[in-house]
Amino acid sequence: MKKIRTRVPPSPTGVLHMGTARTVLVNYLFAKKHGGDFVLRSEDTDKERSTKEFEDNILEGLKWLGLDHDEFYRQSEDIEHHIAAIEKLLESGAAYESEEESKKEEGKKVMVIRLKNPGKEITFNDIVRGDVTFDTTELGDFVIARAKDDPLYHLAVVVDDERMGITHVIRGEDHISNTPRQILIQEALGYERPIYAHLPLILGADKSKLSKRHGATSVDEYRQMGYTKEGFINYLALLGWHPVGEQEIFTLKELIEEFDLERVQKGGAIFSLEKLDWVNKEHLNKLSDKEYLEGLDLSEIENLPQFSSEKMEKVLPIVRERLHKFSEFDKDEIAFFFAVPEYEIEDLLFKGKGDLKDTKKHLEYVKKTLSELQNDAWSDLEALKASVWDYASEVGRGDVLWPLRYCLSGRDKSPDPFTILSILGREESLKRIDTALEKIS
Ligand code: GLU
Repeated sequence: MKKIRTRVPPSPTGVLHMGTARTVLVNYLFAKKHGGDFVLRSEDTDKERSTKEFEDNILEGLKWLGLDHDEFYRQSEDIEHHIAAIEKLLESGAAYESEEESKKEEGKKVMVIRLKNPGKEITFNDIVRGDVTFDTTELGDFVIARAKDDPLYHLAVVVDDERMGITHVIRGEDHISNTPRQILIQEALGYERPIYAHLPLILGADKSKLSKRHGATSVDEYRQMGYTKEGFINYLALLGWHPVGEQEIFTLKELIEEFDLERVQKGGAIFSLEKLDWVNKEHLNKLSDKEYLEGLDLSEIENLPQFSSEKMEKVLPIVRERLHKFSEFDKDEIAFFFAVPEYEIEDLLFKGKGDLKDTKKHLEYVKKTLSELQNDAWSDLEALKASVWDYASEVGRGDVLWPLRYCLSGRDKSPDPFTILSILGREESLKRIDTALEKIS
């Protein structure tokens, strides 16, 4: 059997798009699963729109994702192969030169090279779609080059795929109508036909083709938002593909094993940020504490007076619980663990109602009962809770637990007071309760 070789030829006329990354992923997975090669080809023949910056962006983005190519080509550097193919077609009579009115400049004549279209039905087998049939008659004698040394996309792609021994052309559904043209060129040149697979398009929630107005579309943007490459890749693989079992979280290595073109759906794949977030969180939670901490921007937290690495390790589960991606990290949500919070006394009143005298009484009770706890009870959430629970249930939980939580955190929203007490520890917790009592007096 021939060695499997796949390819993706992105045009460097824009930054790495999510759709291209997904096409690369599928080509990569398919090649690796079958012990084959994945070829990346920069399709830079559009001289006006192609730039080195875009090419670098595509290469860097794919490198970040870990989707390494086995070979890299730049289409513009291989132009002699296209010229040879055009000459062959002209010699055999399968193509001809034609002088025509310029579409750009009125009254000007230009030369183009057209393929003599035999005008027949073409059926090709698509791994995702099964047999696909097109009548090529309507295509007429289509243009394949502007000049011998200026080939158009269809010709260049066919010549390059043949020359590079590409066995499988796996690309977006938007290219399906290009396939009959490309097959006609292959046949005119006597090439073997590769196997095709056209992947469903990625759609926004409104079922229209994913675009800027649906949100971020470039890989860079997702990287900057703090998604991990593992999470992002995993989500891309799920766009239009259904794993056999219940498992949805995969590493790249597992995807090579599991991914199967036969289980790719025909219909469009709807992009969901919520699902991406969920997948990413699952991957974030696989990180060790050390790796996770490296992903967080702790520069301002580390400068706070009560910061210590040990305390940060205790705070980490709270952060992990909340974040789907690193960019969601809000230092203000945890700063109170490392610095005495500031707040107004009125904030100690549950729902802003009641009497501060009662608040004082409750905090005094809590202070007393907490001070009586043995040292080891301070790391035991149940013991901390038990020490105030009966009292709080009797006089009103909110009236007791709200001021307790508020004087420790200074925030309307925070973890429950017992979690905070256990992280702050005896000395600091009692100090903060004292501060509240002083403020009230
Ligand atoms: N340059 C085309 C693109 O960026 C390649 C299409 C193909 O895979 O043949 O979509």
